[in-house]
Amino acid sequence: MSTDRSGRTESDGDVAASHADGDPLVRVRNLEKYFWENDSLVDRLLGEEPVAVRAVDGVSFDIYEGETLGLVGESGCGKSTTGETLLRLQDPTDGRVEFEGRNVYDLAGDALTDFRTNAQVVFQDPFSSLDPRMTIGDVVQQPLDVHGVGTAAERRERVRDLLERVGLSVDQLDRYPHEFSGGQRQRIAIARALALEPDFLVLDEPTSALDVSVQAQVLNLLDDLQAEFNLTYLLISHDLSVIRHVCDRVAVMYLGEIVEIGPVDEIFEEPKHPYTEALLESVPRASTAERDRDRETLTGDVPSPRDPPSGCRFRTRCPKVIPPEDLEIEQDDYRAIMDVRQRIESRDVTLESVGGEAFAFEDGSIPERDVDDFVAALKGRLLDRELPARHDRLLEEALARLASSDWDGAAEVLRDHYESVCERRHPDLGDEDHPAACHLYDDSVYASDESDADRSRTDRST
Ligand code: SF4
Repeated sequence: MSTDRSGRTESDGDVAASHADGDPLVRVRNLEKYFWENDSLVDRLLGEEPVAVRAVDGVSFDIYEGETLGLVGESGCGKSTTGETLLRLQDPTDGRVEFEGRNVYDLAGDALTDFRTNAQVVFQDPFSSLDPRMTIGDVVQQPLDVHGVGTAAERRERVRDLLERVGLSVDQLDRYPHEFSGGQRQRIAIARALALEPDFLVLDEPTSALDVSVQAQVLNLLDDLQAEFNLTYLLISHDLSVIRHVCDRVAVMYLGEIVEIGPVDEIFEEPKHPYTEALLESVPRASTAERDRDRETLTGDVPSPRDPPSGCRFRTRCPKVIPPEDLEIEQDDYRAIMDVRQRIESRDVTLESVGGEAFAFEDGSIPERDVDDFVAALKGRLLDRELPARHDRLLEEALARLASSDWDGAAEVLRDHYESVCERRHPDLGDEDHPAACHLYDDSVYASDESDADRSRTDRST
């Protein structure tokens, strides 16, 4: 957090220099954290297959000494699980995290104690993270007691010092957490996190439970403490304004993966990944002119991490999802057809309700004489636009299959004509300065896409 509130400062140069100079303080490689469902003894006896919930699915990043790396994304994207797994508060499924060059998952004994001393966390909710039965003096002193730091008198003196550093009075030492405001409680949590003089803090939504005015005070405090103690931060937040004003670099997460990472100014001024663009577009604007401009906000639900989409995980919502090369179609029309296709593939359409009572499914099918009306009614339900004639015909051909509840046939018609490289190939993040995991930045995709498409068609026909 080497910025002031208005932007970059000379200490940005310090951070950049530290990148060039040395190894990162924290190096995360291919970190995975899966949770398992249907994995109990009873499930196994019943023959249920375990289902992996891929909360974190192969993330890699570095954090350099003295910098603040932001981790941003929608709720449920895996950012908090990443922070907890990185600190060994959860066991990883796979991957490696190095702290000062040592794999933290191999640490034991004194080395593990050292790591736990050096890497601390501040949680989102100061209301529940403090024991209500302990005075704040005891709360802050607890880590010192547990680790046997100094004498009792030295520990108490350190607590007094810490409380003053975070802007609280030593007179408040014997009061209880419920006697403090939300902002003050978060200051207490920060003092406790600093008690053992760590080098690295994971700040998990540290201000999201606070009023806006208090948020700024706590962020300023974290900024001051970073400068004073040369702290390194991983700041987890869904709030882009917090990220922008606090972080040096930012990693954007979507459905368990990092889709873009780079310097915070570049990400905000020139985002590359369509998800980052959509996130930025969804931030409320202060000025009327900005509020009134056309905005492409995020639509659709985040898919389940139990069954993430093939290829690019953002493809089910991406406004720039890539059409087949030989297809002449406007981007918005293609997105609309892909939305219809997704609903058909997931059978997320109630055919019986189309047109109210007008269509009777006799023996599971619409009578031949009513098919055209059924298709028109269904199209009106699923699409909010007129398509060019060629695409309209193809869509009607697919929808007509649904008149006989032939879901697979309808999906196949649309897949044959509209399958995207974005669903066949997983985009890699790469290792440039400002990489984005999107095929729009990968020229090789187009070269090899034809062979992929041929293979895909062959696979389906065999
Ligand atoms: S790979 Fe395709 S679907 Fe994914 S973000 Fe890029 S354009 Fe969108």
